Amino acid sequence: MRAVRYHGPRQPLRLESVPKPSPKPGEVLVKISAAGLCHTELHFLSGLLNLGVQPLTLGHEVVGVVEDAGAGVESPRAGDRVILHYYVGCGRCVHCLVGDENLCDALRAEYGFIADGGFAEYIAVPARNAVRLPPEITDEAAAPIGCGVTTAVHAAGLARLSAGDVVLVYGVGAVSFGLIQLARLSGAEVIAVSRTPAKLEKARALGAAHALNGNEGKVAERVREITHGHGADVVFELVATKETMAASTAALAKRGRLVFIGYSEDSFTVHPIQLVITEASVTGSVGNTLGELVRAVDLVARGGIRTVVDRTLDLGEFQKGIDALQKGQLIGRAVLKP
Ligand SMILES: [Zn+2]
Ligand SMILES: [Zn+2]
Repeated sequence: MRAVRYHGPRQPLRLESVPKPSPKPGEVLVKISAAGLCHTELHFLSGLLNLGVQPLTLGHEVVGVVEDAGAGVESPRAGDRVILHYYVGCGRCVHCLVGDENLCDALRAEYGFIADGGFAEYIAVPARNAVRLPPEITDEAAAPIGCGVTTAVHAAGLARLSAGDVVLVYGVGAVSFGLIQLARLSGAEVIAVSRTPAKLEKARALGAAHALNGNEGKVAERVREITHGHGADVVFELVATKETMAASTAALAKRGRLVFIGYSEDSFTVHPIQLVITEASVTGSVGNTLGELVRAVDLVARGGIRTVVDRTLDLGEFQKGIDALQKGQLIGRAVLKP
């Protein structure tokens, strides 16, 4: 089968022929129909994220149809449309036992990270990782749920969003589109920041009350102006450069929660007094859980959240997607179709 393979930092991705997997007991074989390109792919290519596993098929937003099942699988069944949860935890550690497989001490797989992912024609995964997709959601529209929307559901939970909060979403991509809509559903007021006017326009269309162009600077000051001095109760950091982190911290309200989802080469520095006198808190947010994927699918199926797909490309055209992502040209996901 065809697969887009990663060969380490600063090496180009290559379309190659690899053996088609076969499902082991408890697994299903999924014929992939759509897979989203995530910003994480760029971190693999630059080497900022280096998990040391290569060659590797990337792709962790995976949608398809169950074609076959190994011994002992009751559901899903052949013909079922599914979206995949990309973590396979050990099932025994203290994190797995409460469903936090994203924090597992001994992951068995993380598709597209340490195990072959979805930029391919087929993938075999444990049956419990394949979540059935309702007919209301097309394959292309479903792809950005896998990481984009589900990671937003996870981060929103950590941020303890509540009605009346002012939420600053710093950086606008697939996760942000989910965050903006979740924040609106929670009754929060959203301020989105991006350097790209078209992304800001989309942020507004999805419910952001304010859209600030980062190129114009003074983001924290503008947030104070908009909120009459209050600041942002929650800041979601999806850019995390020196400049944005300084603005994010300065924009925090008292008891504000700064949540890191994105990262860059830059380190985060803050004088403790900034946190002490405001009782602000800082947290990281990594990935998502199976329960959150089920919830995200439900939110999209019921129309509470819309996914944003910029373009669909044939698997062989993956480089076009990577290039557009790198140049910041994508408003939402590029989705690859094998
Ligand atoms: Zn992702
Ligand atoms: Zn575990």
